[in-house]
Amino acid sequence: MSSLCSIERCTRTSRGLCDCCQQNLCLQHLNEHNALLTVQLNPLTDEINVLRDRLKTLNIQKTIADSRQKLEQWRQNCYKKIDYFFEQKCQELDQLVNEKVSQQREELNQIYLKIIELINAQEATRQDIDLLISTIRQLKTNMSKIERTCFTIDTRPLLIDDTLIFIKTTEHELDLSTLSPIYKTVHHSEESFRSLTSNNRYLLIHQYPNLCLFDREMNIVKQMLWSYDAIQDMCWSSTLDRFIVLGENNIFLINENTMLI
Ligand SMILES: [Zn+2]
Ligand SMILES: [Zn+2]
Repeated sequence: MSSLCSIERCTRTSRGLCDCCQQNLCLQHLNEHNALLTVQLNPLTDEINVLRDRLKTLNIQKTIADSRQKLEQWRQNCYKKIDYFFEQKCQELDQLVNEKVSQQREELNQIYLKIIELINAQEATRQDIDLLISTIRQLKTNMSKIERTCFTIDTRPLLIDDTLIFIKTTEHELDLSTLSPIYKTVHHSEESFRSLTSNNRYLLIHQYPNLCLFDREMNIVKQMLWSYDAIQDMCWSSTLDRFIVLGENNIFLINENTMLI
């Protein structure tokens, strides 16, 4: 059954439900309401265009420059560690060769001086000659050994796993939620002293009654009974190559390899 347009004073027959006002309207009023809606489209396209412009002018490099800087710093630090390790091993190799060569040189010099001495004195016993011959024989053997020297270099590839670098998107740089997720939890009893410190290899923590070294996986690798002063503070000294533990009345140096104080 047909009814009238819902607009006041309109006498035309309603032709459909208007989408915007949920009223039954005639064709003319439906068109009017439709026109009112389409007019609202223009400001929306303007807003989209503003957003598109903002996206176009967004300086991505500036946004990520600081983070790239941190990644770059990490890379440089890693290179330095590799270079340092490489240099140490090269020196170790040189030292292995040099020790043998200099010992041989030293022995050759000594026997040479001995022979010159005998020549100058124009006097040599049968025993002198036999001794010289046997020493020279030994030096020849040593020389052959040095010439045949070769090294076995066993190397393992450097393992790089994804957890070395953790990247997370945050809205503000100082957002505390930028902290990495909990890596491992270590029980720390009431009686344990609070200070802790670390070097490149270990974390030093007092776990009553012991002083413990934890590795990167947070496993205790070394520990020793701590029966000294109450620990006030701890730090690592790369110059001394020791952990420094500040007690109430004493300062202790701890060797990470031997755990000796
Ligand atoms: Zn309407
Ligand atoms: Zn109408």
